[in-house]
Amino acid sequence: MKILVINCGSSSLKYQLIDMDDESVIAKGLCERIGIAGSKLTHQPAGKDKVEIEKDMPTHQTAIELVMEALQDPGHGVIKNTDEISAIGHRVLHGGKVYSDSIIVNDDVKKVIRECFDLGPLHNPANLMGIEACEAAMPGKPNVAVWDTGFGMAMPEKAYMYAIPHEYYEKYSIRRYGFHGTSHMFVSGEAIKFGGLDPKNAKVIVCHLGNGASVSASIGGKCVDTSMGLTPLEGLIMGTRSGDIDPAVVQFICNKEGKDVNEVLNILNKKSGVLGMSGGVSSDFRDIEAAKKEGNHLAEVALEAFIYRVAKYIGAYTAAMNGVDAIAFTAGVGENDKVGRKAICSYLGYLGVKIDDEANDVRGKKAVISAADSKVKVMLIPTNEELAIARETLALVQ
Ligand code: AMP
Repeated sequence: MKILVINCGSSSLKYQLIDMDDESVIAKGLCERIGIAGSKLTHQPAGKDKVEIEKDMPTHQTAIELVMEALQDPGHGVIKNTDEISAIGHRVLHGGKVYSDSIIVNDDVKKVIRECFDLGPLHNPANLMGIEACEAAMPGKPNVAVWDTGFGMAMPEKAYMYAIPHEYYEKYSIRRYGFHGTSHMFVSGEAIKFGGLDPKNAKVIVCHLGNGASVSASIGGKCVDTSMGLTPLEGLIMGTRSGDIDPAVVQFICNKEGKDVNEVLNILNKKSGVLGMSGGVSSDFRDIEAAKKEGNHLAEVALEAFIYRVAKYIGAYTAAMNGVDAIAFTAGVGENDKVGRKAICSYLGYLGVKIDDEANDVRGKKAVISAADSKVKVMLIPTNEELAIARETLALVQ
C-alpha cells in the first residue's frame, strides 16, 4: 500500500510517497515559493536523478497538481496513476482542544482546523489548503490529519494549565499544547523498542534539538509533559526563539523601544535564541560552535545557555516522572552534535548517566550512546515525522 505524506507550510509543500509494505520512500520532494514569483518543485525519485521543475505555483492547489504530474511522469515518475495511492496523510499543526488522535478528514475536521487558525496562524491555513488541494486532485481518497499538538494532548491538567484566570481557557482555549508531537511520539516509541524497554511503563525523555527545539517526558509512550506551550515559543532556547522568559520583558521592551506587543513577539520568535544571544552570529548551531572556537564569548554563552536549559528540563522531567529509564536525542543538533550531547549529559551524573565516548561518536543513526553501567540508557534516535504520519494514516485506512 502506498501512502502520500504532505506537509504544507505557508509558502512551501513537502511530500513523500512511502511504500508501507517495507516503509521505503519511493519519491520525495519540495515545492518552494508557492504564491511568490520564482516557484520551484524539486522532485527526488528513489534511485534516480533529482529533477528541478520551475513553474508558477500561485496556490497550494497548483502545487499539488504539479506534484501529481511529477509522480506520474513517464521519465521521473514512480507510479502509473493515482489509483496506486491509497491515502494521503497530512501534518496539521493545531487541533485545538478538540483533537488529539489522528483522524480521517471530513467537514467537521476541516471546521476545527479552520477554527484553530488563530492558534496556528501560519500553518493551519496552509494545512487546510493542502487537504483541499488533495481532495480536488484525488477525489474520494481518504485524507488523514495527524496533529502536531496530538502527543501533548495527553498531558495532565497540572502540566497543561497556565496559572492565569481560568476564563481565558474557557473562552479562548489558552493552555499548553506542545508541538513536534509527531517527532516525540515516533522517537519515544522507537526508543522503547530499540532500548528493549517496557512498552507500558518506560519513562522516556526525548530531546528534539533542531532549529526548533523541545523536550518531552512520556510514560509508556503517553505524554506527561512537554516544553512548548500555547505556541512553539515556550521552553528551550532555539535557533531564533527565546524559549522561556519572564513575560514582563515584553512590556519592558515595548516601553523602552516604542514597539507594540506584536513587534516584540516577532523579535522573540525570529531574532532571539542563539541568534540573538550571540549578537547576531547565526541561528545555525554549527556557526555558533565555529564562532565559539574562534573565541567569540557571546557565542560561547549562547551555546552554554542552550545546553544548560536542556539539562534543566531533563532534571525537571525526571522529577515529574519520579525517574527516567531512557533519554533520546533527535533532530539536527541531537543527531549530529556529539559534543552537545556529551555536554548535556555532563549535568546528569547525579542520575547515574554515563556516556561512552566511542559509542557517542555517531551521527544520524540509531545507537545507544551510554556506557554499559549507565543507570539511564541514553540513545540517538533519528526522527522521521513523515514515516510516523504514514503509519498513523495506514492504521486508519487499513
Ligand atoms: P533541524 O531543524 O532538525 O533540521 O536541525 C537543523 C539544525 O541542526 C541546524 O540549524 C544546525 O544548527 C544543526 N546541526 C546540524 N548538524 C550539526 C552538527 N554537526 N553540529 C551541530 N549542529 C548541527
